[in-house]
Amino acid sequence: MSKNLTSRSEDYSKWYNELVVKADLAQNSAVRGCMVIKPYGYAIWEKMQAELDRMFKETGHQNAYFPLFVPKSLFEAEEKNAEGFAKECAVVTHYRLQNDPDNPGKLRVDPEAKLEEELVVRPTSEAIIWSTYKGWIQSYRDLPLLINQWANVVRWEMRTRLFLRTAEFLWQEGHTAHATKAEAITEAELMNNVYADFAENFMAIPVIKGTKTESERFAGADETYCIEALMQDGKALQAGTSHFLGQNFAKAFDVKFASSEGTQEYVWATSWGVSTRLMGALIMTHSDDQGLVLPPNLAPNQVVIVPIYKGAEQLEELSATVQGIMKNLRALGVTVKYDDRDTYRPGAKFAQHELQGVPLRIAIGARDLANGTVELARRDTLTKESIALEGLEQHIKALLEEIQQSLFDKSKSYRDDHITAVDTFDEFKKVLKNKGGFISAHWDGTSETEEKIKELTKATIRCIPMDYKEEEGKCVLTGNSSSRRVLFAKAY
Ligand code: AMP
Repeated sequence: MSKNLTSRSEDYSKWYNELVVKADLAQNSAVRGCMVIKPYGYAIWEKMQAELDRMFKETGHQNAYFPLFVPKSLFEAEEKNAEGFAKECAVVTHYRLQNDPDNPGKLRVDPEAKLEEELVVRPTSEAIIWSTYKGWIQSYRDLPLLINQWANVVRWEMRTRLFLRTAEFLWQEGHTAHATKAEAITEAELMNNVYADFAENFMAIPVIKGTKTESERFAGADETYCIEALMQDGKALQAGTSHFLGQNFAKAFDVKFASSEGTQEYVWATSWGVSTRLMGALIMTHSDDQGLVLPPNLAPNQVVIVPIYKGAEQLEELSATVQGIMKNLRALGVTVKYDDRDTYRPGAKFAQHELQGVPLRIAIGARDLANGTVELARRDTLTKESIALEGLEQHIKALLEEIQQSLFDKSKSYRDDHITAVDTFDEFKKVLKNKGGFISAHWDGTSETEEKIKELTKATIRCIPMDYKEEEGKCVLTGNSSSRRVLFAKAY
């Protein structure tokens, strides 16, 4: 596996693309904008899924599955949602191919096999799900309904990038139904908090929780909550969203319930999702010029052991010790892989594991065995130490926790250093150009000003932070009065 990545300072975007491919995470495919997720990348995604799934279930949600296709009449029922997604929809119009009489050996769409109603490939599933919920919800006893689905969706994105923005992506989408507005808002906030918890404690990515402005809101939502992260190049990334949908979908699909007082009421809704974009966030937050750096909580293998040996006899001797170490590590809940492939030399194995971000590497040779030690290398700091076999497993367990924390602390201190408060538009532009990151500034609350700032600087309002303080000020662009600061940034 050849390393030699472009450095981040040279070309961040090139570094990212090379890393994704060279670390064997994903590759482009024959379909424009759609990626192949390779086994190593998929293993990381599976770890994310497993943790998120556990967290969803702990908060009372169940998984279900709804169809990929949405009949156009259902898709268009909630007008704002339909309008928002219409521009990026793939649509199925036919259901059969036939031999092309004009081109032997080729197929063509059978003009006779035109669908009576066109089917939209889901860009998001509110429509198909709420048309189904109509049959599931009659009374207050049927509520709340707390459902999640793991699925793929298609949004015909024009500018795509592996993991960060693809035309087809994998995600989970929660869709819940509630008897009251307050309960639905609590749910939307709860799931945004679950995402923040996951990002910080598993991905080691500090995030800012906030709400979106009207123009950045999900189409069909009354409020969009989000978590925003900062990448190493100073650009922000929307890492997850949770929407309070009001009664918009209940009204569009006529989903009512009999309240405990016997009145007929429209149901309140939420939806929330995170996608394979999280893989991009993970890579861009921690990795370096040597390759991927994975937080132990999401690394498919937390430890890899490489034997250094000459001949079968030495290998056998080493392997006996290694088996013991692996057993003890597994008993402590540590995932470990023994890389005893005889088709690669140790140096090549080291390079591969470094590129693929394995948090800890143990190298063990005959001399180590005689001394009762091993060599332990840490991926995040690229440091090595010789350490006693005695107590090795406990040491590793503690070190993995330390690495997890240290990755979080490092990215948090970078993030905190890149939130700059400005009071004039000149400062705004200067910080954006020279430093990047989040800019905390007053905004007059109008979509026109937001749009104008975007036009002039390419920076968008990432969120109105949840923990904002009331503060009288003047909008950086118009000078009109404002009562709080919002966070701007250039974003992926
Ligand atoms: P939304 O339904 O638009 O609120 O998006 C749900 C989640 O999917 C958010 O975390 C988005 O950042 C993410 N997402 C949106 N579009 C894409 C895309 N083209 N590729 C990958 N992730 C996406």
